[in-house]
Amino acid sequence: MALKNKYDIIVVGGGFAGASAAISAGRLGKSVLLIEKYNCMGGAACYDLVNPFMPYATTNPESGERIDLSCGLFSEIVDRLRTLGGANQSKRSLPFNEEVLKYLLNTMAIESGVDLLYQTYVTGVRKEGDRIKAVKISNVSGNSEIEGESFIDATGDANLAVMADCPFMLGRESDNLCQPMTLCFRLAGVRSFDADLKARINSLYSEYQAAGKIKNPRENVLIFRTLVDDILHFNTTRVIKLDPTNAEDVTRAEIIAREQVFEMYDFLRANFEEFKDSTLISTGIQIGVRESRMIDGDYTLTKEDLLSCKLFDDTIAVCNYDIDIHSPDGSGTSHYYFPSGKYYGIPYRCMIPKNAENLLVAGRCVSADHDAQASLRIMPTCSNLGEAAGIAAALSLENNSLVREVNVDRLREILREKSAKVD
Ligand SMILES: Cc1cc2nc3c(=O)[nH]c(=O)nc-3n(C[C@H](O)[C@H](O)[C@H](O)COP(=O)(O)OP(=O)(O)OC[C@H]3O[C@@H](n4cnc5c(N)ncnc54)[C@H](O)[C@@H]3O)c2cc1C
Repeated sequence: MALKNKYDIIVVGGGFAGASAAISAGRLGKSVLLIEKYNCMGGAACYDLVNPFMPYATTNPESGERIDLSCGLFSEIVDRLRTLGGANQSKRSLPFNEEVLKYLLNTMAIESGVDLLYQTYVTGVRKEGDRIKAVKISNVSGNSEIEGESFIDATGDANLAVMADCPFMLGRESDNLCQPMTLCFRLAGVRSFDADLKARINSLYSEYQAAGKIKNPRENVLIFRTLVDDILHFNTTRVIKLDPTNAEDVTRAEIIAREQVFEMYDFLRANFEEFKDSTLISTGIQIGVRESRMIDGDYTLTKEDLLSCKLFDDTIAVCNYDIDIHSPDGSGTSHYYFPSGKYYGIPYRCMIPKNAENLLVAGRCVSADHDAQASLRIMPTCSNLGEAAGIAAALSLENNSLVREVNVDRLREILREKSAKVD
């Protein structure tokens, strides 16, 4: 692969949003470059060790029929993961093997004609008026820039949009606090794990917390099975009241979370036979950020939109994952579960930032309030948003139009042709 000086579409960030955007645009014949600061795609799934895919289906209450909500490219990723042995047949939370995911996303991107640039950090943009002309990059080759016609910010933190001076919101409206950050980790060599052990762990954890012997403010211990019997996944550290967009705060968060990892590891080994010989085999390469910046887009999705299960004329993805808010203040996790058969739409306008005419933003940083983001942030939905952004960017180039002038009927028609769910 020889890098070009200019691309039709440049995608920054290779998480589920960015990978899906790049693959969908590449399949429409556009020249696409995906730039990622790590050495693979998958984003939080790989460097934060986030697992499993949260549920992305509902059930028709009358017929009992399953309705898949995250279809399209995401279904293809899941099918191909299963074929490669990287996911099982679970129909709810779906555990997957992130090493298989990394390999698969490379394969799918290359098949789709996407150029990849790993270990490369986007540090800025060159902009003329509201039009981004190029991204500035830094990597082992030095500092340079690459031009593009259209850009997709899939950085999770809306980094590209910020570099392009687009307005954004941070965290909860009342005080800008974000959902807690969590450093995920895995223990191997766990002899057995079942509901009874889980209950015993949680009961003793509460006693320890009440006695001040556990510093982690999280209310319980959140454990998931993995594809390997004796390996458990822990999504249970909790760092609160620090800003994920402030480098010093993030450093503090990494240190606090690592203390919590060892606090939990020691607690389990000291008190439960099943963990006596367990080994801490991995922690995320970086602490996981559930929420940070959300762009201030042409439309901001709200909690009220979710509660009324609103669908829009420009819906490009649907979701019914619960409004899952890990308390930004300390203990507690609140949930609002959608009624069976119900889901809400995410409008195309949520991906259009103000102050830029050739930039789309996909993934967990689309324009949404704190509550709405708490639902749409899951990996399946981020993939759906990315797929729509890739197609929309391609359409804007075909029609020589601004991203906000894209024909949304045509966009939704293409998404339907690709089996995505938009109604
Ligand atoms: C602790 C935790 C637990 C979670 N649990 C679940 C769960 O169980 N199931 C679920 O479905 N979802 C879960 N989520 C939510 C989900 O993982 C994320 O919201 C989702 O993966 C975000 O995808 P994304 O593509 O928007 O961003 P990311 O996956 O964050 O991808 C952004 C990419 O952009 C790159 N990047 C950023 N800035 C630059 C730059 N300047 N230059 C180059 N590259 C850049 C990053 O390296 C990264 O690869 C969890 C999240 C966290 C943090």
